Amino acid sequence: MLTEREFLRYARQIVLPGAGAEGQEKLKRTSVCVVGAGGLGAPCIAYLAGAGVGRLVIIEPGRLEPGNLHRQIIYRNEDSGFSKARSAAAFAARLNPEVKADMRIEPLEEGNAEHIVSDCDIVADCTDNFAARALINRTCVRLRKPLVYAAIYRFEAQLAVFMPGRGCLACQFPSVEEGTIRPDEGVAGPAAGAAGAMQAMEALKLAWGMEPDGHMLLMDLRNNEFAKARLRRLPGCPVCGGGANGKISGT
Ligand SMILES: [Zn+2]
Repeated sequence: MLTEREFLRYARQIVLPGAGAEGQEKLKRTSVCVVGAGGLGAPCIAYLAGAGVGRLVIIEPGRLEPGNLHRQIIYRNEDSGFSKARSAAAFAARLNPEVKADMRIEPLEEGNAEHIVSDCDIVADCTDNFAARALINRTCVRLRKPLVYAAIYRFEAQLAVFMPGRGCLACQFPSVEEGTIRPDEGVAGPAAGAAGAMQAMEALKLAWGMEPDGHMLLMDLRNNEFAKARLRRLPGCPVCGGGANGKISGT
């Protein structure tokens, strides 16, 4: 049950259609793995913590560099040189003491992914490299966890939610390295901010029990162009088995 203090804190969220006090209690019971605490992860962590998601697991091996600060808005100049996972967890705790923020100062790897992800209800892929995205996708498929994916490139961003048994990231990009956005070509801070905030929005909607729309959102904030592409199931997808014969593996 929510305390009076929680009712006050979340008042403007509780009155949202489809949320309510019951939805707030669901958020309180939900744990989200945020993989990567950079341009996407920073705003995602901020909104998840503000919303009262019960437990955040922040997975990030890196230390803050001055070149991160234009987009990774939960950090301060004086955090430079320190662990981003530690600073991000401290930010979440200061923003909302009701939230338990766990940090893992390590990359997500084959050896730890299953253990870490199995402990969470929802996974937000806020990473910036192909190998991590592919590993997160495989792990979510194997453990049947909803995956909130985003990627950013210059002024552009992609956003999608992959639900267990309904296709996966590899169904969209059979070669993840060719299909998803490349990470290292510059990024506009607000574009990362928009995409990371939308990842938090999708995670909250999942926790509230709202169905994802089954599309990938493609955003070009240089020209303010937005497009949606229906998520497909790749027959014989090497990761999830795809939609061969209209059947999805595991369902
Ligand atoms: Zn697939």
